[in-house]
Amino acid sequence: MHARRFVGVIFGTLALGLASHAAKIQVAVYDYAGLTTAELRAAEAEAGRYYRPEGIEFDWTRCGAHGWREITCAKVVRPQALIINLLPQKMAARATRDADALGFAWSGTHIAGVLCARATELAEEARMPRPQVLGMVMAHELGHLLLGAGAHEHRGIMVAHWTADRVVLLRAQPFFVANARRRLEQEAAQIAG
Ligand SMILES: [Zn+2]
Repeated sequence: MHARRFVGVIFGTLALGLASHAAKIQVAVYDYAGLTTAELRAAEAEAGRYYRPEGIEFDWTRCGAHGWREITCAKVVRPQALIINLLPQKMAARATRDADALGFAWSGTHIAGVLCARATELAEEARMPRPQVLGMVMAHELGHLLLGAGAHEHRGIMVAHWTADRVVLLRAQPFFVANARRRLEQEAAQIAG
């Protein structure tokens, strides 16, 4: 376990060196939904796709729901890190009362979440791999953490209402509209580590 973590640190440093021009924001992912490491990696890569063109890179810190990884995370997650909770069905009702919500971002905090069961249903309906839709919802909720509750747009990843057709279209055109782009830059510069 320690050896694996050490490798992670090396790669993290390497990535920082390669992308030194980009604002790098730490995102701690707390997985309560029991995703596989491969699914988590794919979801993180998907979320990153929407921010890379804006010059924003995420430094993902994967935290488990139980045991030593959570304890380790408490030590390595910086105060300004953004937090994504991946929630199973049984925890969804406690997080939001909106029955159709795919995710949530608590206003005035760095905490957001993805409702994995609903995202999985949408992925099946859209015939897309689950990690893709999970990553897209992560990207949307990270957008709220960076831009606020009123960050919805008529186009791009910050569209408010997602259907199976819409989600296919959003994936084909990963972008932030111009006004969101400017605010993203400012916010990212403030919280980047
Ligand atoms: Zn939203």
